[in-house]
Amino acid sequence: MALSVEEQARIDLAATFRILAHLGMHEAVANHLSAAVSPDGKRFLINPKWKHFSRIRASDLLLLDADDAASAHHPDVDATAWSIHGQIHRRLPDARAVLHLHPVYTTAVACLATPHVPPIDQNTARYFNRIAIDDMYGGMADTEAEGARLAALLGDRRRLLMGNHGVMVIGANIGEAFDDIWTLERACQILVTAWSTGRPLRILSDDVAEKTARGWEQIPDFSRRHFEEMKQLMIEADASLLD
Ligand SMILES: [Zn+2]
Repeated sequence: MALSVEEQARIDLAATFRILAHLGMHEAVANHLSAAVSPDGKRFLINPKWKHFSRIRASDLLLLDADDAASAHHPDVDATAWSIHGQIHRRLPDARAVLHLHPVYTTAVACLATPHVPPIDQNTARYFNRIAIDDMYGGMADTEAEGARLAALLGDRRRLLMGNHGVMVIGANIGEAFDDIWTLERACQILVTAWSTGRPLRILSDDVAEKTARGWEQIPDFSRRHFEEMKQLMIEADASLLD
C-alpha cells in the first residue's frame, strides 16, 4: 500500500536524523530538521525538543501548523525551532525540507570575517554564487522576527551560511536537501584543509565554476540516490526508525 505524503516524510526525516548523527553532523540535542507535508507548505514535521538525533523515530516527529501560534507553547517544541522553521514554512512554500545544523567545517567557514566558499574543486564549485550570507548573528534566535529575517535573506537561494552560527539548507525534497548540506560540509572540509596548508589556492575561473554548479543542478537524482542509499543503511542498522 502506498504511503501518504506525511507517512513518507516521517520515514525520510527520521532517517535523515539518524544519518546526520551517524556522520557526526549533529550538535548535542540541539538543531532541527523539518519537512512540509501540505501543498501550501504550512503544515510541517519537526523533531521534538532535546531528543538525540540517533534515537528519533518516525512517530516522534511533531506535526505543526505554521499559522497556529499556539504551537510556540507546545512543551515539546523548541522556541528557536518554532521561530526559524515556522517562519520559513510560512513564507516559503517551495521549502519542502528545511535543515539547520552547526557542522564543524561549514560553521568554521561561517565564522570567518568574510564567510565565503571559493570554488576550488567540484564540491565547492557546486555553491558558486549560490549561497546567501547572514552576518547579523545576535544570539539564540527565538523570535518570529528573526525567522522572518532569515527567510527574507534566503531570497531565491537554497543555502544560508549563518555567520558565527551554522548553516540552513532548504530543498525541494528531503533527499536533495540532505545531499546538499552533506556536500556543503564536505566542500568546507576540503576548503579548510586547503587553507590550512598556508599555500595559495588555485581558484577556478568563474566560467568553470558556473559550468560545474550547473552540472550539479542537472543531477538531482544523484542527490536522491545518495539519500536513499544512506537511508537503507540506517534502516538495516536499526529498523526502529520506522516505528
Ligand atoms: Zn543553530
